[in-house]
Amino acid sequence: MSSEEEDPLRAAIESRGRVRTSAAHMPPPSTRTARRGTSQARLQRENTHDEIYEKIYVAILEHRLHPGTKLGEERLAEIFNVSRARIREVLARLAHEQIVEIFPQRGAYVARPTVAQTLDVFEARRLIEPAVLRRLIDTLTPEKLAKLRQHQELELDARRRDDKRAVIRLSGEFHSLAAELAGNTALARSMRELSMLTCLMIFLYDAPTATSCRADEHSQIIDAIGKRDASRAERLMLQHLDHIERSMKLDGGDEPVDLEAIFKS
Ligand SMILES: [Zn+2]
Repeated sequence: MSSEEEDPLRAAIESRGRVRTSAAHMPPPSTRTARRGTSQARLQRENTHDEIYEKIYVAILEHRLHPGTKLGEERLAEIFNVSRARIREVLARLAHEQIVEIFPQRGAYVARPTVAQTLDVFEARRLIEPAVLRRLIDTLTPEKLAKLRQHQELELDARRRDDKRAVIRLSGEFHSLAAELAGNTALARSMRELSMLTCLMIFLYDAPTATSCRADEHSQIIDAIGKRDASRAERLMLQHLDHIERSMKLDGGDEPVDLEAIFKS
């Protein structure tokens, strides 16, 4: 493994910009139990696991780590200065969330969802997101609405600064935040995974400069939520999902661009 090969992975993980740590992409509290060691040591281990998870997760979400990129255990262990066993744990967690694919004898790669998976994800989103909005409107409080508007401000600010990475991340997080505020943890978890997969799909099937969600569409959805107009909010969300799906090139066969080969050369 030459040092030139190490650099892109390290850079992708360490160049994380100003990241708003919203609950939408925070890892859920760990439920692991200690196998050995003091509770202090266990705490340290778990924090490190969450930190590594979070850094890789955000790097993928911000398109700094591309679909198909190899996530070598040894290199990641070096970068994070931890054991390969700990890296394996983090990669297994990311694989469980379908963000990473693990192949026997080849190792872990950032997932490359196929066209068929992409169509499945949009079908699931069309079912889940209207339900999320209905529940959110049923349980709406001024605080929840304020959180949505705050998030929207961050997104608009990122667009004004032309910070494409932040826009990609924040626009995906808008959907996770809505699900989280709706208050159903199962829906929120599904939404978080679906947003993340959509993010990978946008990278694979969209124009390189595309940024997934249009800002004005989020604003209109928030306005409908504020007016507790569930049918309008649902209709706008379905249109919004159609726009995202239609902006992708999903009819050119099932094989995404072979980025892995590009990076291996
Ligand atoms: Zn959106």
